Amino acid sequence: MKDYRKRDINGRELRPESLMMSYGYDPMLSEGAVKPPIFQTSTFAFQNAEAGKAFFELALGLREKGPKEELGLIYSRLNNPDLEVLEDRLTLWDGAEAAAVFPSGMAAIATTLMTFVRPGDALVLSGPLYGGTDYFVKHILPDFGIAPVCFSAGLPIEQVEPVVREGVGDRRVSAALIETPSNPTNELVDIEGLADLVHSLGDGDHRPVVIVDNTFLGPLFQHPLKHGADMALYSATKFIGGHSDVIAGATLGDRELMGRVKTLRTFMGTIPDPWTGWLLMRSLETLKMRMTAMMKNAQHVADYLVDHPKVQNVHYLGLVPEDDPMYPVYRKQCGSPGSLIALELAGGEPAAFRFLNALQLIKLAVSLGGTESLAQHPASMTHSDVEPEDRDELGITPGLVRISVGVEHYDDLIVDLEQALQAV
Ligand SMILES: *Cc1c(COP(=O)(O)O)cnc(C)c1O
Repeated sequence: MKDYRKRDINGRELRPESLMMSYGYDPMLSEGAVKPPIFQTSTFAFQNAEAGKAFFELALGLREKGPKEELGLIYSRLNNPDLEVLEDRLTLWDGAEAAAVFPSGMAAIATTLMTFVRPGDALVLSGPLYGGTDYFVKHILPDFGIAPVCFSAGLPIEQVEPVVREGVGDRRVSAALIETPSNPTNELVDIEGLADLVHSLGDGDHRPVVIVDNTFLGPLFQHPLKHGADMALYSATKFIGGHSDVIAGATLGDRELMGRVKTLRTFMGTIPDPWTGWLLMRSLETLKMRMTAMMKNAQHVADYLVDHPKVQNVHYLGLVPEDDPMYPVYRKQCGSPGSLIALELAGGEPAAFRFLNALQLIKLAVSLGGTESLAQHPASMTHSDVEPEDRDELGITPGLVRISVGVEHYDDLIVDLEQALQAV
């Protein structure tokens, strides 16, 4: 029998993109089907009563797993083959021990944070955060006694440290959640520096977990676990799903932490359906091709925009100058500049709206990371609930437009941008 968890040939390690069509799935368990079938079932039959008892003992943590024992299939709120294969494949990109998938990025964020935070704790956060995350940590968690402590992305770690220490005061820090690069302005947080700082706020009995929302560059171009973070987290709706047709999320980390997250997932019921798992497996087969093509397109688009007289400023990682304090951070932790660009138009909201309304190929929609290019206006759309003074501080100006560059031909994208800029 072939070993479907094998990751090497004669000791030479295989790359994630080479394993996305096979890893974790044994066709012989499914009539030889080359692709995993969709296991559209809520519950699974046990071989015998003893097997059922053993599965429950493991699922509920009543005893340790035996050396060769695997958690059997019980019920699709706990596990399902499509989700298990997907989770195994997701671990490969980030070099994680384990993964948990969710029915949305927000379900991943909410379930993961609730696993670790407790009343009275401080939660360290970078800003700006995704709108849904921002609302959850500033309006929902505080009702449970969890205090948000925020710092701005783009600051060197020496300036972050006093802000965090003062904000935390004498509270226990149970977790930090950061987004880097930030949305929409592509500011960076030094993952290694922040992880060292946050871990230093723990003590012998308590180690805070550092969670990186890696939606923007990962899982291809940034691997937070390799820079000292404890968990990487995704809206799989974006690059991982990649076709703007599925909502999903994922969290990755070591077995112990992920075991705790999965226990809460079981009781909150935040697990996706098998069809979502199947769609994401299909997406993972082309992840590297898509993200690479989008990144190359974005470089052409950014080069075009930066020279345009009507564009005041372009926020794109590929344009960070070498003398910028963030440049070494970029070189250390980002494998590429990615495919998100924010451009600043003179003339505020009216100019931005004229530009967006004139686009013909690029669609006017929120979200990102799909095969099609999308443009939107952060100040009135994705970031409209950020306080106006915070918006200014974060660089979310009325003339700012964010573009998620897709897989179209870059010349065609530039033709569209050219005619839309003429309308400004
Ligand atoms: C979209 C997004 C989320 C939320 O994910 P959903 O799948 O929409 O729930 C979280 N973080 C970031 C950075 C995002 O872009």
